[in-house]
Amino acid sequence: MQFYRDGFYTGDPATAPSTALPRPSQDVDEEVDVLVVGTGPAGLVLAAQLARFPSIRTVVVERREGPLELGQADGVACRSMEMFEAFGIAGRILEESYQVNETRFWGPDPERPAVIARTGRVQDVEDGLSEMPHLILNQARVHDHLLQAMRSAPARLAPDYGLELVDLVVPDGDGPVEVTVRDVRTGAARRLRATYVVGCDGARSRVRQLVGRRLDGDRADHAWGVLDVLAVTDFPDIRVKAAIRSAEHGSILLIPREGGYLVRLYVDLGDVRAADRERVRSMSAEEVVERARRVLHPHSLEVRETVWFSVYEVAQRIADRFDDGADDAGEDPRPPRVFIAGDACHTHSAKAGQGMNVSMQDAFNLGWKLASVLGGRSAATLLQTYDAERRPVAQQLIDFDKEWSTMLAGSPTREAPGPGSRSRDDLLATYFTQQGRYTAGVATRYPAGALVGAGEHQHLATGFEVGTRFHSAPVTRLADARRVHLGHAARADGRWRLYLFADRARLAWDAALTWLAEDPASPVVRHRRADDDVDAVLDVRGVLPCSSHEVELADLPALLRPRTGALGLVDLEKCFTATTTPAAAAGGEVDVFDLRGVDRDEGAMVLVRPDQHVAQVLPLTGTRELSAFLAGVLLDAGAQEPLTRR
Ligand code: FAD
Repeated sequence: MQFYRDGFYTGDPATAPSTALPRPSQDVDEEVDVLVVGTGPAGLVLAAQLARFPSIRTVVVERREGPLELGQADGVACRSMEMFEAFGIAGRILEESYQVNETRFWGPDPERPAVIARTGRVQDVEDGLSEMPHLILNQARVHDHLLQAMRSAPARLAPDYGLELVDLVVPDGDGPVEVTVRDVRTGAARRLRATYVVGCDGARSRVRQLVGRRLDGDRADHAWGVLDVLAVTDFPDIRVKAAIRSAEHGSILLIPREGGYLVRLYVDLGDVRAADRERVRSMSAEEVVERARRVLHPHSLEVRETVWFSVYEVAQRIADRFDDGADDAGEDPRPPRVFIAGDACHTHSAKAGQGMNVSMQDAFNLGWKLASVLGGRSAATLLQTYDAERRPVAQQLIDFDKEWSTMLAGSPTREAPGPGSRSRDDLLATYFTQQGRYTAGVATRYPAGALVGAGEHQHLATGFEVGTRFHSAPVTRLADARRVHLGHAARADGRWRLYLFADRARLAWDAALTWLAEDPASPVVRHRRADDDVDAVLDVRGVLPCSSHEVELADLPALLRPRTGALGLVDLEKCFTATTTPAAAAGGEVDVFDLRGVDRDEGAMVLVRPDQHVAQVLPLTGTRELSAFLAGVLLDAGAQEPLTRR
């Protein structure tokens, strides 16, 4: 983590000095750049991202009168932790959470089907999938960490609680979106004018309704009783995530929780017919615990405290679009001004643990795009890529959720009988393992388009798959010989990143870095305004295939030790080596070049988007392609005009 770039300050170094704009008094119509509606995981990730940009006036409204305190989702996928690292909150979340290492499967004992027996266990996250673990932490605590990230960021952002969006009107012309919010305590209405509105307002999204978007899909017909309990039991896997299916009494998903004692039980209440709906919705926690006991038989379950209980019914549904744009862009080329994210545009069961995670990735995808457009760096058409990229991801999630839910709740059948045919429980464990990349959140691959290259040079760095998230690997930071993760150089600051992996001779590497620093066609030169730091738009990093003992900082090209910030200090953290000592290299230590399949002879350039997805892999000589690619996303400095309302 780097700080004091613009001068020293006392106190928590993670709390950057504020340059926040003052808010007007509450009784005037407020003009804002972005209005975020809702403070669930989607709204808070978006707000935490926008809080990095103090010139963007962001207002966050939340109908609740304070932060969430209990309940809702709890699974934090590896991918979300990678993103949290960029927000500077991964370490604290890691300390506080439960870490999922194994998932165990229980089914009817073949000898005595009336009791359950363990049928399998699988490693929860495959080795090497991510440097981050799969964690469990209450959604309310995830919110708290994101709220802290907002408060510490330069814009010092905090939600306005107790304000509910009731209406919005998108004008036909260029004017701002007119929004009416209501104070839930006094009923008083307030008006805001917003350049962009993002509805992160959950499954019953008012924003979605007001822009005429539909949720398509099944009606909610499957219910789960969800309990967070402190309990005493002789069930042996109480501290391991377990999918438990009984012969006669349905199934449970058991999720151990943070702190060593708390446990979440998802108790399957089955398909709900219309006639039964009220009865299921009004089930008490005791009734649901009784069902859980029957599933766990012969094991005991003595609940000492029920911390949270809800009957959760979810339909698998997806919005027809994630913004207010026209279906056919040719018909209405006006870029969108209202967006929906998270549960507002896709809902699915809780069993795959994806609701919170996918919602946050929606917001991470949108946040940097809004910042780039409002900062004048990109044309507003960039915003059309949000729906184009995120809607297919939500559709995949719904397809996965249907399959996984059916398997979890299905009847105890076997594969077609025959030699070697596997039981349903074996099939479940196999499917779970196969889908591990997906549930870890690392399988998302954005298709080729304006923001993702076609991957013509993928062979130069096979482990940095174009379109997928940048898969971090350990390296040694040259300046202080510290082992660090290369991906952790990326902060959630809206900047693009270019990693240059050196060729064996270092000739192409040197030439590429010189071109980047000096050539008028270089993205570092052409997209950078006069008052910008050299790395304000494109943060260039170098990786050498040797040990840190073999290179001197002074010998690095100037772009890898640039002057930066108000004091003109030198940033010495731009260059990394594969290993620390020559002995490690000679001893065949597996390094980032091996781990990510980077061509040691030719090297490679890996261009990474602000949301950590790999945009393109290029040869070190591919400077012209790099320039053309980024010119498709970023405006030349002379054409950049911030849209922010100062
Ligand atoms: P949400 O977290 O739903 O946040 C939406 C926010 O918008 C809320 O804070 C809401 O108060 C606010 N809001 C709504 N309308 C307005 C308005 N007009 N003006 C201002 N603010 C507004 N997932 C699981 O994995 N396991 C579970 O057990 C589970 N249980 C859940 C129980 C409940 C009651 C709910 C609502 C969700 C549950 N989920 C569960 C789903 C999971 O919490 C969501 O997938 C996740 O929170 C989605 O995040 P989001 O930010 O899109 O929306």
